[in-house]
Amino acid sequence: MAIDVFNPASNEKIGEVKEFTEDEVGSTIERLQDGFSEWSKRRPASRGMVLYKAAEIIRTDQNRLASILTSEQGKPYFEARNEIQGVAAVLEFYASIAGTICGHTTPKSDYGYAFTNKYPMGVCGAIIPWNMPALIMAWKIGPAIVSGNTVIVKPAETTPLTNIEIAKALYSAGLPEDVLAIATGSGNITGVAIARNRNIRHLSFTGSVETGERISKMVDAGKIRLTLELGGSDPMIVCDDADIDKAVAGAVAGRFYNCGQICTAVKRLFVADKVADAFIDRLKTATEQLRIGDGAVEGTNLGPLNNIKGLNNIDRIVKDSICSAKVITGAKKLNSPGNFYAPTLITDIEPDSRLLTEEVFGPVLPIVRFENLDEAIGMANSTRFGLGASIWTNDIRNASKAIDEIRSGILWVNRHSRIPPEVPFGGDKNSGIGRENGLNALEQYLIEKTIIIAP
Ligand code: NAP
Ligand code: MG
Repeated sequence: MAIDVFNPASNEKIGEVKEFTEDEVGSTIERLQDGFSEWSKRRPASRGMVLYKAAEIIRTDQNRLASILTSEQGKPYFEARNEIQGVAAVLEFYASIAGTICGHTTPKSDYGYAFTNKYPMGVCGAIIPWNMPALIMAWKIGPAIVSGNTVIVKPAETTPLTNIEIAKALYSAGLPEDVLAIATGSGNITGVAIARNRNIRHLSFTGSVETGERISKMVDAGKIRLTLELGGSDPMIVCDDADIDKAVAGAVAGRFYNCGQICTAVKRLFVADKVADAFIDRLKTATEQLRIGDGAVEGTNLGPLNNIKGLNNIDRIVKDSICSAKVITGAKKLNSPGNFYAPTLITDIEPDSRLLTEEVFGPVLPIVRFENLDEAIGMANSTRFGLGASIWTNDIRNASKAIDEIRSGILWVNRHSRIPPEVPFGGDKNSGIGRENGLNALEQYLIEKTIIIAP
């Protein structure tokens, strides 16, 4: 079966990919098991050289790759370029630490000498969402490949094209084709086939909490290592001593970048009563200045939502939540063949409304006023999510209180959402298990073996 790919700015078809069946997933994984025997024995530094070369090819080809990403994902071209450059940076980071993979030794005892070695695991699975498809693929394949594993990647149904192009860049750089395979297809057929396959040793999934829960039930729990990067409902807390201009800019970028479809987007804004009127005023002006349109057109800074399901979902959540709330701006679909939704600010929201309790994956920002920081932190913590959070303040006491008391995997002070390749990334509570990015990710793709030599 073929799966059509559409441009979300026009809903015109731009390509099609095949759907990998369960049998095809099985035979691809067998091929990757064969590839593992050679790739796992290569010196890590030699594996790193392939990633360096791939990063160089991707940087050279970034304009073309960014155009493909914009055409299938919808994001503005400058954001797509940032993402492609991010892919290269992640591959370079893992290339640079290839030679550091090693175990440790313990002091000699009556038992003799003991030390550990670290070995790759085998075939890994990577299931990718559509919001940052290129970057999230790099987060998974970078550490997997450099540590000597082989990988099967399942792109999201709506954004397979950039993932295919990135794989081609890796092959051009000298990566054997039996080290990385792209298995396009739907979650229900191809995704399920990967999750159920008993030859996968590590599965890394990024997507919604619901799909993550389904996947945890399908895998061979006794054998597989599972990394889950799930949804978030990140709070942004603006204290009365914050730099208001910076915080307004942070809220606009934090909420509207990628049309609000980022796991660590600002999804709930808490602002101190004392500065709330001024803050909301400036935020309204900045929000209404966003230029909405096809991401391929220069000057656009807010593209369409990636898919119609997401558009309708946002529209429904807003309609269900605004009866007693106040719309500052937006709150409507825009008249267009594409999946456009007006950037939206809403205040005076009931605490149990869907806007504050569910993950809002689009350009809609609920704003809540608070009187003191304890109250704000209490509200920030009052969801099942715990991915990212930020506090905006010039008072170190406020910052350290938030650092200690907000339950999240990532906490920013005076910024939101940027993640360099060196730092660990992942969630607390229902937002996930394990960490990606940084050195931590490497450990999740390695088995540590203890060796004891009798005296
Ligand atoms: P999704 O529906 O959970 O899909 C994610 C991936 O899983 C897609 O490739 C999807 O395939 C696949 N899939 C769906 N059902 C499956 C199943 N039963 N078995 C195996 N695979 C299956 O999520 P999404 O709607 O694409 O992405 C948005 C969500 O991801 C949001 O909740 C967001 O917060 C979260 N997210 C989290 C992070 C993070 O790092 N924490 C990053 C990005 C996004 P199809 O596309 O073919 O259905
Ligand atoms: Mg989906």
